[in-house]
Amino acid sequence: MEIKVDSYVHNSEKISHNKILSIISTIAKSTTFDSTDTIAYPPFINSHDHLISNWFPKAGDSNPYQNVNFWVEEMKYSKSFLERNKIWLNDGSFELTDKNANMIIQLGIYKNMFSGCSIVQDHIPNQKDKYYKNNPINILKKYSQCHSISMGNWWGGDNAVKEWEKTQGEIPFIIHLGEGKDELAKSSFGKFEKLNLLQPNTLLVHGIALTEDEIKRCGEAKTSICWCPESNLFLIGETLDIQACLNNGVNVTLGTDSTMSGSVNLLAELKFAKKHFPQISAKDLFKMITINATIALNLDKDISELKAETSELLLLKKRSDDPFKNILECGIEDIELFVHDGKPLYGNTKFLEGFEIDLSNYYKFGDNRFVIGHPEKVTDKINSILGYKKDFPFLPI
Ligand SMILES: [Zn+2]
Repeated sequence: MEIKVDSYVHNSEKISHNKILSIISTIAKSTTFDSTDTIAYPPFINSHDHLISNWFPKAGDSNPYQNVNFWVEEMKYSKSFLERNKIWLNDGSFELTDKNANMIIQLGIYKNMFSGCSIVQDHIPNQKDKYYKNNPINILKKYSQCHSISMGNWWGGDNAVKEWEKTQGEIPFIIHLGEGKDELAKSSFGKFEKLNLLQPNTLLVHGIALTEDEIKRCGEAKTSICWCPESNLFLIGETLDIQACLNNGVNVTLGTDSTMSGSVNLLAELKFAKKHFPQISAKDLFKMITINATIALNLDKDISELKAETSELLLLKKRSDDPFKNILECGIEDIELFVHDGKPLYGNTKFLEGFEIDLSNYYKFGDNRFVIGHPEKVTDKINSILGYKKDFPFLPI
């Protein structure tokens, strides 16, 4: 299967124009599509989400908070959280392969799929193997984590030091840090550094309270930071000093966080970041969701590059001549084709003709949209439990 595109982005430094891409897949037919009104990219990576918390709307009435601990307590009594509890009630074990948890996890997976993410980092205690298997996109499996320095691993797992030791310095160690603006949040970096956890395989999430000097030390230690601007500005009213990160060579990734505090999806997060921080280039934002994420999450760097013959593709409508700015112009409906592992996941139905597939494994909706699996069955079940129709802005179905 070949697709003629306006241009394609190999990586942040190399763009080709008027090219033909070949889809490498055992199910691809020998068809050619003329899609010269599109730009091709490697699929994106969302470096921070909590799949079980992708409910809507955002939770918490007393924002902005001094630090996230206040939100975590207040969130438990929010309308959004209590409504989600009608589908799945956490018994404290954070065992997400139980009962109805999977329905909510599916919502999170679709949220990421509908924004072109082939990989999502789900910040939660490590789950059973089956949690990471048979999903249409990849949930990062190899990682160790702690919730935060200020709250410890209250949701399961060992303390931060023991969790880091499990990584042997190789797989990512992920932790929320400095999610606030008070003394508690400001003291977290010093405590973290004293524990000798500022390491090249550490991914700090948020870092709102970090000073420029602390950010510089992250750069020197090659510690990555995941930026979640929408969640930060909603919860705390402040965010990471992103300019200091870029000035000091910190490897920055971008994450949505869950929709209980963050953006609707990664495309919305990109728009939010550019709107509030116009000095950050669209190219730098692209790096945060591709190459930088592969470094932070210890993934093969090839994942962040688009090759002329590929089984991984994100095809977006051309809305701007600048391929990086183009991403910021696009929404859910502008994804013309998303292919992962050689399989079409989401896009314009015309492309389904290019694959040998069982159409019963796909759902068609709108004028010309398809998606893999059956999200409409998930939402039907949720609606039947709630007794009314629940809308999620990250689902276009
Ligand atoms: Zn988080």
